[in-house]
Amino acid sequence: MEGRLDGKRALVTGAGKGIGREIAKRIAECGAEIFALSRTQEDLDSLKAEVPNINIMNVDLQDWDKTREEVSKIGHIDLLVNNAGVGCRLPFIDTPKEEIDRLYDVNVKAVFNVSQVIAKRMIEKGEGGSIVNISSIWSRTAHPDASAYSSTKGAVDNMTRCMALELGPHNIRVNSVNPTFVITNMTKGQEHTVTSLLERTPMGRFAETKDVVNAVVFLLSDQSCMISGESLRVDGGLGVY
Ligand code: NDP
Repeated sequence: MEGRLDGKRALVTGAGKGIGREIAKRIAECGAEIFALSRTQEDLDSLKAEVPNINIMNVDLQDWDKTREEVSKIGHIDLLVNNAGVGCRLPFIDTPKEEIDRLYDVNVKAVFNVSQVIAKRMIEKGEGGSIVNISSIWSRTAHPDASAYSSTKGAVDNMTRCMALELGPHNIRVNSVNPTFVITNMTKGQEHTVTSLLERTPMGRFAETKDVVNAVVFLLSDQSCMISGESLRVDGGLGVY
């Protein structure tokens, strides 16, 4: 069946909750062996209860050395989804160093760290691979109280292009998925702050988790074998403005 991922080994970061959890479950349904990385043990335990053959990894991505050590242990990976992310809504002028560090550690530096380990293995094995980075529509536009978050996602978009350039000769594709607002643990209760997004969305709704998952699976699968360096908006047309 087209879009199947049988025989592949996949790592999903931030797989405990929200979008990452649903990505991990769908990739497992598509036949891949999954490594689900997150940092709250209860989330990982409940994921394992739902999908018993999933491999769970409790790692705090803010810890550079420990992350590198744990990711190095899992061996070859064909498919990587850098999904883990954190947000904050603070005015530019008042965003403290601790928040800037936290967002850059998880949203940017962890993508470097995990991808370096995995891509090195992919190159050594010589069978290529696919990497998807979860970015955001806010990577390209300005929103009030979002300078830290938006700037990390801008960095992810350009890191995606640079990775695609350097890893393409090894048959490793790198793309990002850039969703509009999705109601998850990260965003619930914030709907009232983004009503202007909804007003400007031609499709007239926010994204659902499954809309994002569908785009990720497409970019992981051979269905997208000539697509690399792309940032795929999942935003109901909002980005046309
Ligand atoms: P959630 O907060 O629901 O889930 C994020 C997951 O990442 C959690 O499992 C969380 O674990 C994990 N995580 C966070 N920090 C770390 C860390 N230091 N180490 C290990 N795991 C960590 O977020 P979403 O599902 O909404 O977001 C997923 C991605 O999608 C993010 O990159 C986000 O920026 C992006 N995105 C989300 C949008 C939205 O509207 N929801 C829109 C556009 C992009 P724990 O809970 O244990 O900290």
